[in-house]
Amino acid sequence: MKMLQATRSRINLDRVATVNQIIPFSCVDGPGSRLVIFLQGCNFNCKNCHNPHTIDWCDSCGDCVPTCPAKALKLITDDNKSQVVWDQQLCTQCDICLSVCPKQSTPKTLRYSVDELLTLIRAQMHFINGVTISGGEASLQLPFIIALFREMQLSKDLAHLSCMIDSNGSLSLNGWQQVLPFIQGAMIDLKSWQQDTHRYITGRDNHRVFSALKLLAEQGKLYEVRLLHIPEVSDFDSEIDAVASYLAQLPVAVRIKLNAFQHHGVTGDALMWPSCTEAQIQQLANALARRGVNNLILPNLYL
Ligand code: SF4
Ligand code: SF4
Repeated sequence: MKMLQATRSRINLDRVATVNQIIPFSCVDGPGSRLVIFLQGCNFNCKNCHNPHTIDWCDSCGDCVPTCPAKALKLITDDNKSQVVWDQQLCTQCDICLSVCPKQSTPKTLRYSVDELLTLIRAQMHFINGVTISGGEASLQLPFIIALFREMQLSKDLAHLSCMIDSNGSLSLNGWQQVLPFIQGAMIDLKSWQQDTHRYITGRDNHRVFSALKLLAEQGKLYEVRLLHIPEVSDFDSEIDAVASYLAQLPVAVRIKLNAFQHHGVTGDALMWPSCTEAQIQQLANALARRGVNNLILPNLYL
């Protein structure tokens, strides 16, 4: 039995994820101060995405390699298989590689095992309240998330840290059931109310998002719902009665965070959309509050 447990633990520790970025300290990705791990890959294709190069996985086509002025990229071929390797030390973050990539991807990802991330978390543990896994879409690498959070909770020195997921809500109910025992909460994006609008903005419908919100609320694990207000594009203002009535019936502790659309990082159609002003966010917040929505969180910045 002990041997079985040790083997299982080793499998968990060796599990790896493709990571786009790690922020050692954030105050906007869940309660308190948090280490945030952004995983590569997303199953939505949001026109408003501020980090579109986190959407696809790199297929090592090699197109970006000769364009790197710092020689931080190499194409390594082994057994007829090519792989792009990024040298973080040489990289100057000029982002030329992102601009030439024919996919919505990046060569600037790293593979981390659970074991390696536990070491990083231990180095920060005196300065943080918890760990948030975000993306891309975090839940696309669900077995990794479960393995990491499980190991944290089994480790005496890390068990006090809260474990949160920041998600677009597309994970199946079965997936949420698997991860629920290992998280204290989730932040979920509700990108629009009507199916057609949601499909236009993200390329996917929002049935699963509503199912996820319901399940997480019932289980007391819905920390925050995030609404991105895109004037003339998203439909929270035109559907205000339905949106407010839905939000008002959520548990009172759930934070309703309003985000204001801005152009930073976006490409394509979204560059033509108007950005959202402080007055427009305040108008939406007032309309929701008048209809009984509490616990509204407004943006600090409009950049
Ligand atoms: S961001 Fe880094 S890897 Fe990409 S082209 Fe610039 S130096 Fe090279
Ligand atoms: S990042 Fe893009 S351009 Fe570079 S190897 Fe990967 S898919 Fe090709």
